[in-house]
Amino acid sequence: MRILIIGEGGRESALAAKLQNDPRISKMFFANGNATTDVIGKNVHLSEIKELRDFAIKEKVDLTIVGPEAPLVAGIKDEFKKHDLKVFGPTQKVASLEGSKAFSKKFMQTYDIKTAKAVVFDSYNEAKEYIQTQQYPLVIKASGLAGGKGVVICDNLEEAEATIHDFMIRRIYGDAGIRLVIEEYLQGFEASIIAFSNGEKLFPCIAAKDYKKAGNGDTGPNTGGMGSVAPSPEFTQEHYADFEQNILEPTIKGLKAEGFSFKGIIFFGLMVTKNGAYLLEYNMRFGDPETQVLMALMENNLLDVIQDCMDGKDIQLKFKDEKAVCLVMCSGGYPRNIETGFEITGEDKVKHSKLLYAGAIRKGDKVVSNGGRVLNIVATGATFEDARKKVYEDAGHVHFDYGFYREDIGKF
Ligand code: ATP
Repeated sequence: MRILIIGEGGRESALAAKLQNDPRISKMFFANGNATTDVIGKNVHLSEIKELRDFAIKEKVDLTIVGPEAPLVAGIKDEFKKHDLKVFGPTQKVASLEGSKAFSKKFMQTYDIKTAKAVVFDSYNEAKEYIQTQQYPLVIKASGLAGGKGVVICDNLEEAEATIHDFMIRRIYGDAGIRLVIEEYLQGFEASIIAFSNGEKLFPCIAAKDYKKAGNGDTGPNTGGMGSVAPSPEFTQEHYADFEQNILEPTIKGLKAEGFSFKGIIFFGLMVTKNGAYLLEYNMRFGDPETQVLMALMENNLLDVIQDCMDGKDIQLKFKDEKAVCLVMCSGGYPRNIETGFEITGEDKVKHSKLLYAGAIRKGDKVVSNGGRVLNIVATGATFEDARKKVYEDAGHVHFDYGFYREDIGKF
């Protein structure tokens, strides 16, 4: 079997490592891949959907797994389907549940999925009027994809006015910001639940926790994720029951009713308040860095799970009764201005954890940084403290100039 994985982050490294050594897989390709996938399979430099399609035809790829959202939102599934190429992921229409916050909010409202109260605006003047009548903080979201930067929590009317002006008039995120979702602010903790879909049912993994802020103690700017743990220690059985009843089941019902059934991944981004779990967003793909900790704990064979979903069969997910911690090492300056191209050393001294490269590539016999989030260090243990100890001991051996990481991942 020949597999193509699209993406170049730690998530794709974790998926690749999980599939590695499966005797049924004869070849794995990665577009564009990184310094880990380079060793597991072959990195190929392709980005346009047409290029990927031509490559998949030429190389007789049996299955394509899509890491990031952009190719799904751009319609890779639809294009590949025309050529009888299999993609584990939804069509463009269904990917709009991630690609358009207005579309997904409407879906949530239609199917009584527990979410923050929100109103969608296409008119600047109407949005401007509305924000004068609201309580603060207030959350203003660009409807389209804005690289994780399109959500602003406004503490007062002044900030809200500036934000809608930036989005709708200055169009700092282009067309992504011409439609807004303005929503009530929810106070609580966040949790991520990734579920596999077999086209009929959804099969959720254990809840994970992602550390979004750049600094220790959840300070500083938002990032793509500075670390993750699983299972989320804050997310109780009661929270899960609430999620199942008020978010998971109505989502399954809604997907069916709209004809949105798909084979792939649906990720629930949750905010858990004193009134239980609320759905903030759907992502229609694996999360990064949540996938890294889930793959570390998953007992199933990943290819079996994906193939069974593709065949419409039920699956039974099993996770080790352990704790997993993933630490993300970043380039200096991340998430703002970064400099890359620095040699990474110390991989050979990583003894207790798994090192997964993300924004790092091989140049000759060296590995050098080439992105904001450079590598992940992942370990499991009987307790979070055990897993943390392994991760931080190993992180101490890995070096690249100006690299940094949070000190408090998995500390409870
Ligand atoms: P991501 O970067 O994870 O893809 P996104 O840009 O698609 O996110 P959301 O997940 O909807 O957007 O929001 C980003 C972050 O903003 C959330 O993880 C959460 O921290 C915060 N947030 C979003 N909606 C709310 C809300 N209603 N109340 C409080 N915080 C919120």
